[in-house]
Amino acid sequence: MKINRAMRLGICATVLMVAATAACGGAEQKSALENARGGTLTIGIKFDQPGLGLRVADGIYRGFDVDVAKYVADKLGVRPERITFKETPSAQRESMIESGQVDFVVATYSINDKRKGRVDFAGPYYVAGQDLLVQAADTDITGPHSLFAGKRVCSVTGSTPALYIERNFPQSRVQTYDSYSLCVEALRTGAVDAVTTDNVILAGYAAQSPGRFKLVNKTFTTEKYGIGLKKGDTELRRTINDAIEAMILDGSWQAAQEKSFAGTGFVVPQPPLVDHY
Ligand code: GLU
Repeated sequence: MKINRAMRLGICATVLMVAATAACGGAEQKSALENARGGTLTIGIKFDQPGLGLRVADGIYRGFDVDVAKYVADKLGVRPERITFKETPSAQRESMIESGQVDFVVATYSINDKRKGRVDFAGPYYVAGQDLLVQAADTDITGPHSLFAGKRVCSVTGSTPALYIERNFPQSRVQTYDSYSLCVEALRTGAVDAVTTDNVILAGYAAQSPGRFKLVNKTFTTEKYGIGLKKGDTELRRTINDAIEAMILDGSWQAAQEKSFAGTGFVVPQPPLVDHY
């Protein structure tokens, strides 16, 4: 086919438009540190996990993850009222970091190699372990092995606990939802026999409904919570690691847990060692 002048002009115009869109799109997105220098940050948290990340009312958020997020933001020069908290469900954390919808994520986010393929992690700032939440009167479920008997267990899509049960206890009937609060509702109505995720998350739900649920209290994995951030942003990772270390050293880390985990029976553990990889 011969390309005439009009066609050539058309092709050029299209190429220019694509190039211009790409350039404009690229210029729009600022790095997390640039946003912080401008005085604002968008931080991903959970909205429905009592003791960790809970949206209490419009603009009011509470929990250990929220306190860690605020502490880090403060070290980056951002005041708490200039933080926009955005809900980051378990399955969306990597994509929301990659797309720049959030500057970083503080949301009971376990560090693992698969996730490290897409995002980087500062921390760890807390170490939890997978456990089970059951009805207070339940005497059948004493650990993940009890799930062999066709028991129905609920967890969250895209979470490490859901994956662990599906891989290691394939005979159990795993129900996945988008959030743990939906799982706890299913446990309340008897639609499932157990909820599985990190002990510290389950303890928050148990404390909200005294006498109703109990933790099996035998953790069977290690979940190191990190602050997820854009892959390759070494400066941000270093800065956040320094902030986590400062929070541990000046007593704020311990105080935040004492406040957030009050009533759960959780005692403050030895602080984890930050991994400067
Ligand atoms: N820490 C686990 C994870 O990152 C479970 C908690 C959660 O889903 O946020 O998958």
